[in-house]
Amino acid sequence: MSGGFVHESLPMRVVLGAGGLARIADEVAHLGMRRVLVLATPEQRGLAERVAGLLGERAAGVFDQARMHVPVAVVDAAAAVVADLGADGCVAVGGGSTIGLGKALALRHALPILAVPTTYAGSEMTPIWGLTEDGRKQTGRDRAVLPRSVLYDPELTLTLPPAVSGPSGLNAIAHAVEALYAPDGSPLIAAMAEQGVRDLAAALPRVVAAPDDVEARTQALQGAWLCGSCLGATTMGLHHKLCHVLGGMLDLPHAETHAIVLPHVARYNLAVAPEADAVLRRALGTSDVPAALAELGARVGVPDGLAALGVDRTDLARVADEVLAAPYRNPRPPTRAEVEALLEAAWRSR
Ligand code: NAD
Repeated sequence: MSGGFVHESLPMRVVLGAGGLARIADEVAHLGMRRVLVLATPEQRGLAERVAGLLGERAAGVFDQARMHVPVAVVDAAAAVVADLGADGCVAVGGGSTIGLGKALALRHALPILAVPTTYAGSEMTPIWGLTEDGRKQTGRDRAVLPRSVLYDPELTLTLPPAVSGPSGLNAIAHAVEALYAPDGSPLIAAMAEQGVRDLAAALPRVVAAPDDVEARTQALQGAWLCGSCLGATTMGLHHKLCHVLGGMLDLPHAETHAIVLPHVARYNLAVAPEADAVLRRALGTSDVPAALAELGARVGVPDGLAALGVDRTDLARVADEVLAAPYRNPRPPTRAEVEALLEAAWRSR
C-alpha cells in the first residue's frame, strides 16, 4: 500500500471545561462504577479528598501514595486497599505519576479508571503503561490501561507552578512533533498535532505570566489533550528515545529533559520531513520551527541546556552508546557522530 494510512481511534470519553469537576459523580455513574478508590500523590491529598466529597457514597476511600515511575510496591499497596474497601474502579486525580498508578491497577487487576489530569503530560490519552521493580522500569502498550473517561477541568491546573507548567507544555508539544513524522501517522493525527501545538504555543506564555488565567489554562489543557492523543496513537522517534535514555541513566526530570532536547531533534528530523515542517510552521506562525521552539522554551522557563540540569558532559558518550544500542523508528537514522552532536548541542546553553 502506498500513500495511504491505517488509523485506529482509541475508545474514550473526554469532558473538558472549567468547573467540570462538579460533574465527577455523574461521570463515575456513567461508567457504572459504584464505589471508587480516589488515587493521588501525597501532595494532592487535599484535592483527592475534595473529589471523594463530591462523589459522596460512590467514593470508597482515598489512596495518596502515588509516586514517580510507578513502583510495584505502591501498586501492590493500592491493590490491597482496593480489595479491603471492595472498590470497583479508580479515579486518578493528578499528573502522569498518579494516572500511571491507575493504569498499573487496570493492567494487573482489571480495574476501570476515570482520569482527572492536572498537568500537561498526556498519559491519560495513551495505552502506554510503566512499572518499576528493583530499580528497573518496564513499559508496554495495552488497551486495557486506557482510562474509560477523562475529565479535564482547567481550574485544577491553576496551582501548577509556572516553572512546572512551561516545561510540561513543551513536553506535550514534543509528542505532536514526533507524531507528525511517525510511521503510523494519518491526516487526523496531523490535524490534532497542528491544533495542539497552536493551542499550547499561544497559551503557555500567558499561563506563565498569569497562572490563574482560566482561559489560558483551558487552551493549554486542550492542547495537552490533543498532543497526548497524538502520543497515544503513534510511534515516537529519536526525541523520545534520547529523553528516555537521558532520564533513566542520569535520573533527570521528565518534562524539562524533553523540553530542552526538543528544538535540537526538531532541527535534525524536520530537515528530512517537509510535510511535518509545513504543519508546524503553520501552527507556530514561523518559517524556522526549531528556533521558534527554542524561543518558546526560553519564554516559559525551560532550563538553559542539559548542563543547567547538572548533566556532566563526560556522561554524553554513555548516553549515545545506549541510544544507538537498540533500534527504533526515526525518519533519519542517525550516525554516532550525529547523536553525539545532538547531545552536545542540547547540553550547551542556548
Ligand atoms: P507528576 O505526575 O509526577 O507530578 C509531579 C508533581 O506535581 C507531583 O507532586 C504532583 O502531585 C504535582 N502536581 C500535579 N498536578 C498539580 C497541580 N495542578 N498543582 C500542583 N501540583 C501538581 O508529573 P507529570 O509530569 O504529570 O508526569 C510525569 C510522569 O508521567 C513520568 O514518570 C512519565 O514517564 C509519565 N508519563 C507517562 C505517559 C504515558 O503515556 N504512560 C505519558 C506522559 C508521562
